[in-house]
Amino acid sequence: MKIHEYQAKALFRQFGVPVAKSYVVEDPDELGPVGNDLTPGVWVVKAQVHAGGRGKGSVQVDGKVVGKGVQVAPNPKVALDIADSILGGTLHTIQTGDRGKPVSRVLIEQGVDIESEFYLALIVDREHAGISIMASTEGGMEIEEVARTQPEKIHTFTVNPLIGYRSHIGRDLGVEMGLRPDLLVPFSAIVKKLYALFMEKDCSLIEVNPLVVTKQGQWLALDAKVTFDDNALYRNPDLIQLQDLSQEEPSEVEAAEARLSYVSLDGNIGCLVNGAGLAMATMDIIKELGGDPANFLDIGGTATTDNVARSFEIMLKDKVDGIFVNVFGGIVRCDVVARGLVEALGQVKLEIPLVVRLEGNQRDAGLKLLEDSGLPIITAKDMRDGARLIVEACKKPGKGN
Ligand code: ADP
Ligand code: MG
Repeated sequence: MKIHEYQAKALFRQFGVPVAKSYVVEDPDELGPVGNDLTPGVWVVKAQVHAGGRGKGSVQVDGKVVGKGVQVAPNPKVALDIADSILGGTLHTIQTGDRGKPVSRVLIEQGVDIESEFYLALIVDREHAGISIMASTEGGMEIEEVARTQPEKIHTFTVNPLIGYRSHIGRDLGVEMGLRPDLLVPFSAIVKKLYALFMEKDCSLIEVNPLVVTKQGQWLALDAKVTFDDNALYRNPDLIQLQDLSQEEPSEVEAAEARLSYVSLDGNIGCLVNGAGLAMATMDIIKELGGDPANFLDIGGTATTDNVARSFEIMLKDKVDGIFVNVFGGIVRCDVVARGLVEALGQVKLEIPLVVRLEGNQRDAGLKLLEDSGLPIITAKDMRDGARLIVEACKKPGKGN
């Protein structure tokens, strides 16, 4: 589960990680009272969305660009005007996808005199089977870019889960980054506190980009991205109120409510499958044959007619040029899946190609149900055949794919 920067910063404050003074505004009516509190000087207005790259992204209102997602204002008056102009808009960044994300809140934060920007992150690191702490002097940049061009500038330490956090970790990272001696102790303290937050709240990611040192020699977390492990939310029920579903893909929210796993992608072929492994294999084979998946929806191992029908409806709402149903019946019976498809197609008219591959438990019964329905369904011999058929059917004219 993702949360907003302002919520992450509230947690930072709780754990003693230094952040700049700031105000959250949700309604233009609140701008007046907040304005009375803003001290003279520079303020930075930051759109609150679940995506990074806001500084380079632009906010649109009614299709017109009104400014960037992070803007520096020379005084409180301008800050309030900027906040007013972007509230209610849609922010488009490299991370938001074409639809953008709604700007329902802005953070007005005290402008800081930055001396240097750093990168600090804590992640669940599967490769090293532990929580890794990554630090870099190249803050403020896309970390993927740093990893590609200057990997030696990223310093990583994986905490041994049996030993836990030790104070030397933060110090060692600071030394590797070449920090001035006077900055080492407070840096190390921040790493330690973020680790405590990570453990206590069962995070899957904490990313501070940038973590800055001000001209006055103070460390501040200027940006904050925190993600929680959904499977551990039951241990921290207080965190659930931080959820903002308006920031998520509507189809993903709908699928989650129906307890289906749904992932939206950039292509044009919808994939309805059972099981995560089959989902990956389906996407691989579609790609291999020159197609591009728009999403995958995993109906799981215990699908019923109802949730197959529901899955299909969710899939049809997404912008797809065709759908590939690829099911291997184990515990899931192919006839149950087929009945779900027929049921869903009884409600809506199918205007795009639908290729179905059924294999395994009750395959023949499933295929017969599809055939008897008289629906314009293309059945496939096997997975490769199905992928080929859907890629053919969804070819975009002139794209040559
Ligand atoms: P994003 O990563 O989404 O672009 P950030 O919060 O990192 O958003 O802000 C982008 C950049 O704006 C930062 O790298 C920093 O240089 C600058 N910035 C952000 N907050 C402040 C602030 N309070 N004072 C001064 N500069 C800031
Ligand atoms: Mg940032």
